[in-house]
Amino acid sequence: METPETQNRELEALLEFYQASGVSCFLEDQALDRFSLSLREAGRAPAAGQAEPAASAPSQNVRQSASIEAPASRPPVAGMPGMPAAATGGQAKDVVVPDKEAVNSAREMVGQVQSLEELRRCLEGFTGCNLRLTAKNLVFADGSPQARIMFVGEAPGRDEDRLGKPFVGRSGQLLDKMLAAIGLARSDAYIANVVPWRPPGNRTPTPQETEICKPFIQKQIELANPDVLVFLGAASAKSLLGVQDGIRRLRGRWMSYKLADRQIPCLAMYHPAYLLRSPIEKRLSWRDFLSVKEKLAK
Ligand code: URA
Repeated sequence: METPETQNRELEALLEFYQASGVSCFLEDQALDRFSLSLREAGRAPAAGQAEPAASAPSQNVRQSASIEAPASRPPVAGMPGMPAAATGGQAKDVVVPDKEAVNSAREMVGQVQSLEELRRCLEGFTGCNLRLTAKNLVFADGSPQARIMFVGEAPGRDEDRLGKPFVGRSGQLLDKMLAAIGLARSDAYIANVVPWRPPGNRTPTPQETEICKPFIQKQIELANPDVLVFLGAASAKSLLGVQDGIRRLRGRWMSYKLADRQIPCLAMYHPAYLLRSPIEKRLSWRDFLSVKEKLAK
């Protein structure tokens, strides 16, 4: 039943969604034609009181319309070599339209990277992905780069965005518990995501966003060079293995992640967020974790 509390929670969630999407201010009940206002300010439009052309007449029905723009506090980042000319980041007018050029420049950039620290700096300066404009932080990695096991998720959520670390929210707490169940701590694992910026409102990253970020996670895996790689959820398995199967088919089967000069044993598992929604599936994940433990013991 709808109560004032549930209504409030829904309203709070909606506000949070707006904020995450880059909405910076709420406007009046009565809609304003900002185009004619700015023309008027520039001295090129009819004076106040003069009739506006019918096509630009504001609707009287608009309530609480919102304006969307990139967060003003984010400093512009200088374009990196090989970046699209428009990609300077930071302001709405500089929003990059993701395209092949951004994917190519990401590939070019990671080609020169020699260490994980360099890769992090590279991502901090990379302006080819629009998600950085609405995210609070880059979420690069957590745990130990020397770990024998690496986990790769899809993209950060709200808590991860706030803290700049992957899997620190409810999903992360479940991941920690599952790790502990096979005798591992977070510091025994290296954890990252395919997409290192939170998509606004926790939406799924678009295929373009994923493609743009892929060269970075591929390089991260290569540099971390784990003995075992685990994909958390279908999205990371599909994008990094280039397969189309769903998670039900993929999970629990050892496969190979191919690098130029070697192969890493890899396994897809259910995403912890899915396990929180469907606890009955935890028994299959338990089997997967035992299989990982066995692999690490070899
Ligand atoms: N879900 C993910 O895929 N990654 C995170 O870091 C958190 C939640």
